[in-house]
Order: sequence, then structure tokens, then C-alpha cells
Amino acid sequence: MNSIELKSRAKINLSIDVLGKREDGYHLVEMIMQTIDLYDIIKIKELESKEVIVKSNSSDIPLNENNIVYKAAELIRSNYNIKKGIEIFIEKNIPVAAGMAGGSSNAAAVLVGLNKLWGLNLSENQLQELGFKLGADVPFCIAGKAALAKGVGEELTYIKGLPKDISILICKPELFVSTKDVYEGLDLNNIKYRPNNEYLISCLENNDVESLAKNMVNVLETVTSKMHEEIKEIEKVMNESNALGAMMSGSGPTVFGLYNKKEDALRGKEELLKKYKQVYVVNSSEEGVEINGQLN
Ligand code: ATP
Repeated sequence: MNSIELKSRAKINLSIDVLGKREDGYHLVEMIMQTIDLYDIIKIKELESKEVIVKSNSSDIPLNENNIVYKAAELIRSNYNIKKGIEIFIEKNIPVAAGMAGGSSNAAAVLVGLNKLWGLNLSENQLQELGFKLGADVPFCIAGKAALAKGVGEELTYIKGLPKDISILICKPELFVSTKDVYEGLDLNNIKYRPNNEYLISCLENNDVESLAKNMVNVLETVTSKMHEEIKEIEKVMNESNALGAMMSGSGPTVFGLYNKKEDALRGKEELLKKYKQVYVVNSSEEGVEINGQLN
């Protein structure tokens, strides 16, 4: 039986600016995305039957047609008229509904996996175009690395990312944040601080993480941190353990801190674990979806 296993990596945002709103309700953004080495494992195997079955070790995600991996599989099956059934197992490590593109990256992994499993020979670009139909972050998740994302998030310019030796402390508080509510809470005509993306990109080019960390801005943070004081509390703990800077990712509630020294990040982790369960120290990654292995 054919099967394939992939790594599906998460992202953080080193900046988010929101420039406006399209007629269809989507927001126009300009943001820096960075892939990190925190990943889910996606296992796909062909079935005798013709159905798509989704399984997971996590009870936080739907295991039916509402799971984005189901939609990704159906998109490939209908576009290329493939009748074969598959089982997709999601081993979840990426916090769910966190601002880390967990779902988008799972969908990206399924597109890459089925392309390989069924020998479709689609290029990375073609996969990204397909991925965009599933969500604005899916094209980024396919190739990973670091990028400036414009449009609704799908117009990607690849840039130099965070150096590999920078430790990234991630903390996802047990809060539910609705992305829709956060965007609706943003007053587009009244944004006080915006990121200077050109400057942040030049910091990355010069390996100047200190300046980058001091100047990171996520315009959505003001909205989310007004709803939940934990965001600022987590940042405080990170700053007190020598983070170069700390900020919220996506629409939250995940907060990350950048550190020169791993031992400082681990100290921050220990402190945060007293109150929060989902706390990780990771590094940046240059890969998006990665094929772990294929069995025929
Ligand atoms: P983004 O950064 O793109 O906004 P996110 O990290 O905030 O993503 P996800 O983890 O992708 O959010 O989950 C958003 C919602 O999608 C959740 O409510 C979850 O139930 C649903 N969902 C569907 N499929 C998946 C999946 N495979 N993994 C995670 N969430 C999924």
C-alpha cells in the first residue's frame, strides 16, 4: 500500500501591518513570515475504499470534512480526477488556533504529499496556486523559509530569515481568540504604530536581530492584548529573561520571544511553564513542508 509521511511546519510573524480591506471582506496585509522548527507529522496512506478519512491524536481539531486537510485532499482528487481513497493522520504538536498557521501548514503538507504519492509532478508554484484556494497562508507554508507577504498574504517575496542560532521561545496561553473578531476590532484609520518592513528586512540581511527585535510591530496585538491581559504578561516574563524582544504572532494568542542565548530562553520557558502548558524553545527553519519518507 502506498504511503507517505511529511513534516508540516509552523510560522511566526516578525511583523504584521494591515493596509486596508477589500470589497470581499479580506484584509490587505504586509507582514514578515518566518518558518520555525515546530511541526506536525502528517501520515497519508492509500485505502482500498474511495473515501477520505481524517484521524488525529488531537481532540482540538475537527475530524471530518471541516478539517482543512480533507479540503486539500478533495481539491487534488477533483482537479486531477483521482478516485483513490486515503487516510490522513495528523500528529498535532503545533498549538491550534494560535496564530501559527497550523491548519494551513497541514493543508500544504497534504498537497505536497499527494503530489508525490500520485506522481502528479506539479511544480512548487503550481502547488502554491492550488494552496491559495484553501487559504491565504497555504502558499507560504508550502515553501517555508522567510518571506514578506503582501496582498491577502499570498504575494510572497523571499527574504533572509532569522539566523539559525537564535532561540525562539513560544508560549500559547489557553485562550480562544477569534481571528475575525480581532480584525473587526482593528480601527484601520487609527493605527498608531506600524512596522517598517523595509527596515526589518535590512536588519535580517545584516544579522542584526537586536535591532529587528526592538522594532517588531504587529498591529493586531493592540486589539488582542486589550481583550486578554495575558499577552502582555507573557511578554514581560520573556523580557525579564533577557529576550531581545517579544511579540504576538498572527492574531494571537501565541507570543514569542527572540533570544541570543538558549539558556535565557530555557529560563523563560521554565518560568512560563508555571502558568502555561504550551511552551516551546525552537529555532527558525529554512524548509516548509518536508517529506520524511515514502513507502510503496
Ligand atoms: P493562522 O495563523 O493561519 O490564523 P491559526 O494558527 O490561528 O492559523 P489553526 O491552528 O490553523 O489557526 O486553526 C484555526 C481553526 O481551524 C481551528 O478552529 C481548527 O479547529 C480548524 N482546523 C481545521 N483543520 C485544522 C487542522 N488540520 N489543524 C488545525 N486546525 C484546524
